[in-house]
Amino acid sequence: MLLTHAHIDHSGRIPKLYVEGYRKPVYATKATCDLCSIMLPDSGHIQEMEVEWKNRKRKREGKMGLPPLYTAEDAEKSLELFKSVKYNELVQVDENITVRYNDAGHMLGSAIIEVWVNEDGKQEKIVFSGDIGNNDIPLLASPTMIESADYLVMESTYGNRLHMRNDDKATMFLDIVYDTIKNGGNVVIPSFAVRKNTRDII
Ligand SMILES: [Zn+2]
Repeated sequence: MLLTHAHIDHSGRIPKLYVEGYRKPVYATKATCDLCSIMLPDSGHIQEMEVEWKNRKRKREGKMGLPPLYTAEDAEKSLELFKSVKYNELVQVDENITVRYNDAGHMLGSAIIEVWVNEDGKQEKIVFSGDIGNNDIPLLASPTMIESADYLVMESTYGNRLHMRNDDKATMFLDIVYDTIKNGGNVVIPSFAVRKNTRDII
């Protein structure tokens, strides 16, 4: 498995694969490995709590209890599969597959993965963008420009819109806050966070 980054919508089912018997390596950058070692057991813990709550309800309805998708312990075990790789280094995954992780600028450790595959005497290159960051963002590097690919598998969440300049964004944000305060309202800000537990935000 080639993991682009730690966000749970990308990594969250790795322990489930482990439960189902997957025992091959999971390649990821060091930061992604470190983040997953916190986030996956935490996710397992959430699975256990949620299923317990569901099962209490099922029991009242006379139904059988369900197992969690995976437990914190399963997640802990799945961490053995993680193999850390460095940015910009060629890594030979097997005799026919070589990969290279490049900074995607999306979150700590995030990567755009180049994959070279030899098949039937021919080499082709596949690029998996993972989630792509923005240029000129504080704390994060700008995404690496990849020069070529035979096949490109690409994130397209914001593919249909142009990003605003950062100064424009800040002004717009402040305008919204001022307007809302003036009108006696509340500002609710949805935000992506990498969570350790309910009290600690990384
Ligand atoms: Zn992401």
